[in-house]
Amino acid sequence: MLKQISPGATLGVLGSGQLGRMFAIEARRLGYGVHVFSPDEKTPTGAVADREWTANYDNFDAIDEFARSVDVVTLEFENVPTAALNQIEKFVPVRPGPQVLEAAQNRIKEKSLMRSFGLPTAPFAAIDSLETLTSKLAEFGGKGILKTASWGYDGKGQQMVTSDADLATIWEQYAGNETILEGFIDFSRELSIIGIRDANGNFDCFDPFLNHHANHILDVSLAGPGLFRPKVIERAKEIVRTVMDSLDVVGVLCVELFETSGDDLLVNEIAPRPHNSGHLTIDASYCCQFAQQVRSICNLPLGSTELRQPAAMANLLGDLWPKAGQPDWAAVLSCPEVHLHLYGKSEAKPGRKMGHLTALSNDVSSSEEIARRVRSLL
Ligand code: AMP
Repeated sequence: MLKQISPGATLGVLGSGQLGRMFAIEARRLGYGVHVFSPDEKTPTGAVADREWTANYDNFDAIDEFARSVDVVTLEFENVPTAALNQIEKFVPVRPGPQVLEAAQNRIKEKSLMRSFGLPTAPFAAIDSLETLTSKLAEFGGKGILKTASWGYDGKGQQMVTSDADLATIWEQYAGNETILEGFIDFSRELSIIGIRDANGNFDCFDPFLNHHANHILDVSLAGPGLFRPKVIERAKEIVRTVMDSLDVVGVLCVELFETSGDDLLVNEIAPRPHNSGHLTIDASYCCQFAQQVRSICNLPLGSTELRQPAAMANLLGDLWPKAGQPDWAAVLSCPEVHLHLYGKSEAKPGRKMGHLTALSNDVSSSEEIARRVRSLL
């Protein structure tokens, strides 16, 4: 058995957004100190951490000092250069490790790995010229999604393409970037599943969440009985376990999946960290995804992934903010079934994730109805 990193120790986190903030809050609840490292200052995580380190990820003097000040390091953002993780590992463990980040940072590598683990994905091909784009698109039935291989999130750097489009003009926007074409999947629903795994290989996962997107950004996530057929739940669990075991992931990892009309599941992408769809676990589960992150990286027993109540989470994007001032929080706070979470970001921009709310009720559909209705009051 590995030695526990006990409360009182200091946990480091790379990346300083809302995921790091919610991780830090759970870490502090258990009596840990938290240091956050990112290139930014006055961040959502920094506001609740003991120490905010502001330096670039290639500043190894700062990385060394940060690593010496903590007992273990985790991350809330997968696009940290793996060189920084390798450097930190000279001092303390990084969980999940650089091999996991490498897998998640490049869509071509990620999908190739999923295939090598025997998991189904959309058909895909690396595209390096207009000719390969044209021929692969035809091979995939004339409809696909063109994506930059790295650095894309929330639909950034991607667009739908069809054979009758002006492919030369579209390709001009991508040429020079490593690019992937995926066949278009006519999925019936999108879901995600979050697993937790410790350094001894102990594993558990939440039941999958059903996700609705708006403008390529997660909008609403649902959890509760009756959302999925039992065989879909079992298959999703098998998939997240296969990914975590195969990549030797220590920490939390989310797999985003497409469900087809035939109840098949295809892997869309993996995120080696807590995920937006799992935010409802804070209010709806016995042990939330952030507390599980703390436990798994510290060699503590994993918590229960059981849901206490059906739940719906609705994201609060910057679009909801008036030009001056704040939305009408009283409308949300006076609703007893709703829990409000704000990330302390000062500037509200369209599409920026500023907070979320979670509604709890006796069944999923009424949770969803409450979450959407209460958000619309803002
Ligand atoms: P991603 O950044 O890969 O998660 O993609 C963002 C969203 O685009 C997904 O949540 C899907 O709604 C959609 N999408 C991505 N890839 C595909 C695909 N191959 N076929 C159909 N829709 C897709």
